[in-house]
Amino acid sequence: TEACLNAIDGAGALNAFVHHTPEIAREQAMAADERIAKGDAPAMCGIPLGIKDLFCTKGVPSQAASKILDGFKPEYESTVTQNLFDAGSVMLGKLNMDEFAMGSSNETSVYGNAVNPWRRGNDDAALTPGGSSGGSASAVAADLCLAATGTDTGGSIRQPAAFTGITGIKPTYGRCSRWGIVAFASSLDQAGPMTKSVRDAAIMLEAMCGHDPKDSTSADLPVPDFEALLTGDIKGKKIGIPKEYRMDGMPDEIEKLWTDGAEMLRDAGAEIVDISLPHTKYALPAYYVIAPAEASSNLARYDGVRYGHRARLAQGDGITEMYEKTRAEGFGHEVQRRVMVGTYVLSAGFYDAYYNRARKVRTLIKRDFEEVFAQGIDAILTPATPSAAFGLGEMSEADPVAMYLNDVFTVTVNLAGLPGVAVPAGLDKQGLPLGLQLIGRPWEEGDLLNLAYALE
Ligand code: GLN
Repeated sequence: TEACLNAIDGAGALNAFVHHTPEIAREQAMAADERIAKGDAPAMCGIPLGIKDLFCTKGVPSQAASKILDGFKPEYESTVTQNLFDAGSVMLGKLNMDEFAMGSSNETSVYGNAVNPWRRGNDDAALTPGGSSGGSASAVAADLCLAATGTDTGGSIRQPAAFTGITGIKPTYGRCSRWGIVAFASSLDQAGPMTKSVRDAAIMLEAMCGHDPKDSTSADLPVPDFEALLTGDIKGKKIGIPKEYRMDGMPDEIEKLWTDGAEMLRDAGAEIVDISLPHTKYALPAYYVIAPAEASSNLARYDGVRYGHRARLAQGDGITEMYEKTRAEGFGHEVQRRVMVGTYVLSAGFYDAYYNRARKVRTLIKRDFEEVFAQGIDAILTPATPSAAFGLGEMSEADPVAMYLNDVFTVTVNLAGLPGVAVPAGLDKQGLPLGLQLIGRPWEEGDLLNLAYALE
């Protein structure tokens, strides 16, 4: 814990930690020492973690990197962080992210962007750690903590993990409780671990997840010992390679990474099978209708009354002006864009044309996966991202759709509610990390992590 606190002090330039909690960390570390001395210590006991700012942590600023939650200190602890603390983990502080987890570069944060500890060859230009869990990725990659929590609505654990050369798993929807995690798109959001290795991910996931009566979508299923399932034996596993993920203009390096990954799995005894997921091309448009629709509803609660920021009012302003001014000042541009898109697609005149259609497309995407799993496929291998980490400003200054294209390989998994893991798979020509993604059957995170373990 002390080593991490020192490392954090020396790494301000990464802008990974946005709230520091050294007192809490030392207190928890001391309590962990006592548990260890008594011989009552689970694997996560004493492990120093960073916590994404999207998690409500009792008495500690929890702002979802938004101005509208300025000064908000929850009265309660999220279930996932409580589970980690019950297992003896230590909180070093809260981590930077895109505002309300909306983004792929950590550039929409009220705290400014986090920075990727990796550089392109000899070029000094700062790169994005990805998003929205950019601070988590940067902190783990730079050894500021041993692991971090992330959340993933459309790729926000897997894309930053790929951009920083770490491991990240988005579990099956319902595996981790969403209680106390600031909601973005409730039918897509899941928490998960971001770690240095697959083994760490298995250990941390087990500590984070489990049934929670406070979240009606949390699954009442036993939690496997994920670590014990890491045998490295993948003989006879069937791995699907979906042809629809071979996008036009995909860089050779990504293509090669994918082929090499498939070969590694084949060498380890898996069978590689060509498969088709025909509705893949509709995933991104469906996601960018459903996610903003749910966000516009979830974000209605930020009204200047209940939480955080309230705008200064002029003489004669009423409650409508208070709402308008507070939301105009409190939400950044990307969040406002999502609220507008979401409100539009849910409006009476357009509901059927957009929201309802997107929901139907979502069902088709889910069925694509169900069909290949019914054919005996155990997991699906794809690239995690269409490129390596890009430069800060490089995408955010283009049109917003260019940024959305980053999520092309990851959003299908959230739409279908499946588990997906990103594992580091090599470096590009400029020395930047690239990741592969494995998509698994629902509730089979153990199997999925074991396949990832074989790729590691
Ligand atoms: N980049 C996607 C978005 O902006 C996904 C974000 C996430 O998974 N939280 O919506």
